[in-house]
Amino acid sequence: MTRMCLIDNEKIGMMTNSFKTKDGNVLCVKHAEALGLTPKDVSESSTSDIQNSFNDLMSAMRKFNITDINQLSKNERKSLAYLAKRNLNKLSPDIYKQVEDITTQIAGNRLMLLGLGLQGSTQSLTPSYLAAILEQNWILIRQNEQIIELLKNNNH
Ligand SMILES: [Zn+2]
Repeated sequence: MTRMCLIDNEKIGMMTNSFKTKDGNVLCVKHAEALGLTPKDVSESSTSDIQNSFNDLMSAMRKFNITDINQLSKNERKSLAYLAKRNLNKLSPDIYKQVEDITTQIAGNRLMLLGLGLQGSTQSLTPSYLAAILEQNWILIRQNEQIIELLKNNNH
C-alpha cells in the first residue's frame, strides 16, 4: 500500500520515516517538523486537527508576509497560528512581542495549535493558563492607555 502525506498527498517512500495519526493517516516528517509536532503529538491528533493546524499556519504566514517557514522557530510557528486564528495579525510590533511571550508560555501544549480544545488534563494546564490570562490583561491595559491617549489628542 502506498502511503501518502495527509497534507499534500505526496508519496512517502517505504523506507522513509513518517508519523501515524490517531485515525490512521500518515504525516511526513517534513510537515510534522513544520508544525512543530512530535511523533507523540501526531499519534494523539486526528487528521482534521493536523490539517486545520496546517491551514492556520499557512494563512498566518500569508498575513504576516512570511514566505519561508524555516525562518520561524517552533514557538514562533505556534504563536503565528494562534494569532492568526484570533485575527491579531494587525498588532503593533511591541504588542506582538508580548503576545508572543504569552503563546510561548503555553507552547509545548499541543492545545496551542489545536485551538485551545481543552483535551488532556485541564488541571495540569491551569497555572500556565492563569499566567497567560494575566499577561493578556496587561496587554489590554496598555491598549486602553493608547486609546485614551488618542482620544485626548483628538480633543485638542
Ligand atoms: Zn508532508
